[in-house]
Amino acid sequence: MKTAIYPGSFDPVTYGHLDIIKRAAEIFDELTVSVLNNKQKTPLFSVEERVNILKEATKDIPNIKVESFSGLLVDYAKSRNVHVVIRGLRAITDFEYELQNAQTNALLSKGALDTVFLTTKLEYAYLSSSSVKEIASFKGDISMCVPEFVAKMVYDKYGYNK
Ligand code: ADP
Repeated sequence: MKTAIYPGSFDPVTYGHLDIIKRAAEIFDELTVSVLNNKQKTPLFSVEERVNILKEATKDIPNIKVESFSGLLVDYAKSRNVHVVIRGLRAITDFEYELQNAQTNALLSKGALDTVFLTTKLEYAYLSSSSVKEIASFKGDISMCVPEFVAKMVYDKYGYNK
C-alpha cells in the first residue's frame, strides 16, 4: 500500500491545502494529514481545533486520516512506517525553504524519507494561512480562501460574527 504524510501548520486550512490534499489522495492509497504541534509558534487555532477542522473539511475523501504530531518529522514518519512526505509549492519563495527541509529529512532519515512536491493550482498560488488571518483580523472577505465553516470559525476568533 502506498502511503504518505502531508504535514503542516494548517492554521487554518485553506483551499490551497485542500487542493493539495485532494490531489495527493488520488496518487496515494492512504494520506495522513498531520498537524504539527509547534511550540515555537503561537497559532490562532489549537492543535485539536485544527485536527477537527481538517477532519470536517476532508470528510468526503475516504482515504484520508487526520492526526497531530510533535517533534521531528522523520521520527514521526518512522513510527508510522511511512516513507513519503507531501509538500505544496506555491512560488519560488517556497522552493528554497522546502528544498532545504527535504534534504535535511533525507539526511536525518538516512534516505528513508522522500519528499514529493505538488505545485499549487494557479488560482491558489496567492493563498496562505497568514494572509487569511490578516484579512480576517480586519474583517475582510475570506470566502474565496477557506470553506464557509472555517471562515466562520476564523471570524469568531477575531470577535466578528459574519
Ligand atoms: P508550514 O507552517 O509547515 O509551512 P502550512 O500549513 O503553511 O505549514 O503549509 C503546509 C504545506 O502546504 C506547505 O508545503 C506549503 O507550501 C503548502 N501550501 C500552503 N499554502 C498552499 C497553497 N495555497 N497552495 C499549495 N500549497 C500550499
